[in-house]
Amino acid sequence: MSTPSADQTFRRADALARLESTTFDILVVGGGITGAGTALDAASRGFSTALVERDDFASGTSSKSSKLIHGGLRYLQQGDVRLVYEALHERKRLRRNAPHLVRVLPFMIPILTKDGVVSRKIARALGSAMWMYDLTGGWRIGRIHRRLRSKSAFAHLPTMDPRRLASAYLYYDAEADDARLTLTVARTAADHGAAVANYCAVTGIDSTGGTHTVRLRDTVTGREFSATAKVVINATGVWADDVRALDENVHPDTIRPAKGVHLTVPWEKVRNDIAVVIPVPKDRRSLFVVPWVPKGDGTYRYTYIGTTDTDYKGPVDDPQCTKDDIEYVLNALNASVTTNVTTDDVLGVWSGLRPLVKPDENAKSGRTADLSRRHKVSTSPTGVVTVTGGKLTTYREMAEDTVDEAQKILGTKKKCRTRSLSLRGATGKRWSSTDMDVHLDGRYGSDAAALKSLIAGDPSLADELVDGLPYLRCEAVYAVTHEMAGTLDDVLTRRTRSRLFDRRATRAAAPAVCDLIAPLLGWSEAEKAAQLAHFVDECAREDAAGLVTEAEFIAASK
Ligand SMILES: Cc1cc2nc3c(=O)[nH]c(=O)nc-3n(C[C@H](O)[C@H](O)[C@H](O)COP(=O)(O)OP(=O)(O)OC[C@H]3O[C@@H](n4cnc5c(N)ncnc54)[C@H](O)[C@@H]3O)c2cc1C
Repeated sequence: MSTPSADQTFRRADALARLESTTFDILVVGGGITGAGTALDAASRGFSTALVERDDFASGTSSKSSKLIHGGLRYLQQGDVRLVYEALHERKRLRRNAPHLVRVLPFMIPILTKDGVVSRKIARALGSAMWMYDLTGGWRIGRIHRRLRSKSAFAHLPTMDPRRLASAYLYYDAEADDARLTLTVARTAADHGAAVANYCAVTGIDSTGGTHTVRLRDTVTGREFSATAKVVINATGVWADDVRALDENVHPDTIRPAKGVHLTVPWEKVRNDIAVVIPVPKDRRSLFVVPWVPKGDGTYRYTYIGTTDTDYKGPVDDPQCTKDDIEYVLNALNASVTTNVTTDDVLGVWSGLRPLVKPDENAKSGRTADLSRRHKVSTSPTGVVTVTGGKLTTYREMAEDTVDEAQKILGTKKKCRTRSLSLRGATGKRWSSTDMDVHLDGRYGSDAAALKSLIAGDPSLADELVDGLPYLRCEAVYAVTHEMAGTLDDVLTRRTRSRLFDRRATRAAAPAVCDLIAPLLGWSEAEKAAQLAHFVDECAREDAAGLVTEAEFIAASK
């Protein structure tokens, strides 16, 4: 197999060596979207920057979102106009800076009848919300909302009971593969000079003497070592309090994790050609029903449905989609469609935790759905900067605020450059003549050239990676040689999203994928077996969690 030489700026071994030998201006802890964005902001301003992630990039919340780049109509209805305005502004910037990764996604909100009657109050309220969304910045996408008659609305969701569908509103937002966006931001940070390493955990912070000494553990080898930095930025999401405790010696208890799950089902069961917002009976919430993986003929392979928003008391390292979650989502879906979607139709699930910031007062009451999605930047007495809260969509703005705060410690005033900074793959030659071109371009942009050269050297690398899924074998190779994938799970869950689409098919393909990447990672037969066993075990844990209630799952994790 001919492999292109690994990306010179994105090599874990080089980053680890630099971590040991350099005093950085800024060391960012946490390789989710917030940490990756912060590292890019810092590096592009010219600061010597490091980014360390204890697991894989985006392995926390940033691979488990609804994958929407949006303002969030819901937050407007909650009165958070500023959040929506800022998010819609960021949506525009991200579409410009990463046009290969961010796609426009039309949404429909059906207006339903109750006992044959349309509630004029609800229809009017929705109409006002639509205008508010457009005026707050929705128009920036180039299209404004419109009302659909029942026939057109039904054409977008033909599994709905047409007698209940009075009309609908159509509006526009955007979508992106969250894990790929995070990885691309981290790679762009490396392109701007940052030392970026996954599988490198922060285990201690010593702040005596002005400079921070950060204890690190290479979680692949177990080796402990130290790095030094003038400023440490804690961007560890739901783990932010744990990292603050390393610095402040007390656990500040500021984060209130809110769990959200999604289910993937075969598209045929729903047949929506655009995203649809459906109400949850007997709840104030609604769910997104999003078509996934276009086939090119107006149909899709999958639909995913989510998300829930529940207070979470379980282990933050391992949120799972339980029987309660699946029932909640399927009940809501089946109240809107007539095809009776059952647990047997669920092909994949994912479950993540929102790193919501507790309000100062009355912290333990109220629904998590009502807590603000705004972010917060704070600095500890020793000068460790922590950023929490926020959204995938607003990561760039969060990063700007955080590096501005870090500059107060550094005593500098360098201007933020990320507002119009292209992400990796956004510039250079792009292709779109074949289905394969469209697939690769939408994931790698101009970097698709490297994947095409792999296929030119070995045409078998254009074969399917997992039966029925859109990924190619060359993507697993590229994930290892260029994207710092170090485990089978990295390849099947985050570099590709195979496990989220179809867990059973992915598990069946896992041995062959393991054989493909093992030589590139220098795995022995024993290591191969361990990687495979770990992946199969993770899938089995997901299967098992879907059979127990939330209470049973939490009790079993104690
Ligand atoms: C169900 C759900 C749906 C969502 N949908 C959307 C959406 O559609 N659109 C949107 O804009 N937002 C959405 N969000 C919000 C968004 O996903 C999150 O705000 C965002 O991903 C949080 O990113 P983060 O980097 O702060 O946290 P994370 O992604 O969790 O990253 C933190 C990282 O820190 C690492 N870490 C922890 N401790 C250490 C240590 N000691 N050393 C080194 N590394 C460490 C972790 O391994 C982790 O990778 C959603 C959230 C959820 C839960």
